[in-house]
Amino acid sequence: LLQLYGPLNFLGSVYSGIRTALVDLEHMLSLTEEDVEVADPPNPQPIATRLADSAPAHVAFRDVYFGYRPDREILHGISFDVRPGHKIAIVGSTGAGKSTISRLLFRFYDTWSGAVLVDGQDVRAYRQKDLRAAIGVVPQDTVLFNDSIGYNIAYGRLGASPAQVEEAARLAQIHDFIMTLPEGYETQVGERGLKLSGGEKQRVAIARTILKDPRVLVLDEATSALDTHTEKEIQAALKTVSARRTTLVIAHRLSTIVDADEILVMGQGRIVERGTHTDLLAAQGQYAAMWAAQATGEA
Ligand code: ATP
Repeated sequence: LLQLYGPLNFLGSVYSGIRTALVDLEHMLSLTEEDVEVADPPNPQPIATRLADSAPAHVAFRDVYFGYRPDREILHGISFDVRPGHKIAIVGSTGAGKSTISRLLFRFYDTWSGAVLVDGQDVRAYRQKDLRAAIGVVPQDTVLFNDSIGYNIAYGRLGASPAQVEEAARLAQIHDFIMTLPEGYETQVGERGLKLSGGEKQRVAIARTILKDPRVLVLDEATSALDTHTEKEIQAALKTVSARRTTLVIAHRLSTIVDADEILVMGQGRIVERGTHTDLLAAQGQYAAMWAAQATGEA
């Protein structure tokens, strides 16, 4: 039996590795079948992954052109900088290319020309696994494993102690809710367990990300509105996780990004306006119109 234990343990870690890959790739950024593989370089550069061990990252896009298929260019020369610890927000109509930017940051695809840089290095210089360890994402819709809610949080950093899981849950404002469940952190969730609301799932995702402690954070804001109370809790939790962290927000509600260091307004694969919230209101362009529309509840 002891002889079996080693291989089983090994299989266990392969299994959790596969689960990680599945969640990261399939669910978080919804890739399709035609998607091509990108290759690791022969001599990958090291990259610090956790904020606890290093400074926040510097992210930059330099004149990026990209399309999913050769006959359809989607991004037509995108350039921006997210300086260490800063927060940038990307807004724009559906199909403008906002999620495509986050997919290129993760290097799910390579650019046609131009470059995506993290810490001044082209993302192609890193091992994909290392790059993705340095970036955390709080997706629009979090997929839960059929496992305990504790495991679902701990998955952000497998091997985290129960105390660390609880601390992350507190910061994500989900601990009190978990304590009301019949079996606390051991409560089974997911398809075959307790179903969580959209807001609860999002807080699980935030707790996961707090444990992962990545140097770059991508927040893919949910399109569906949450009730005001939940929204407030989520915003507070997001503030905790994005504090001091280099953050890209794909935003749908402009009220959540007024404090961004820069807002990029995208239209059909181009940045059509950019600046702070105050700058953009003063410019009285597309952003100001979107702001006015949301304020009157039309958008
Ligand atoms: P939304 O606000 O609706 O999420 P978005 O601004 O994030 O939109 P993207 O998802 O970046 O938009 O999509 C930009 C364009 O790229 C769209 O025209 C879309 O149809 C196309 N596109 C996205 N993913 C793929 C894919 N995997 N294969 C082919 N085309 C794609």
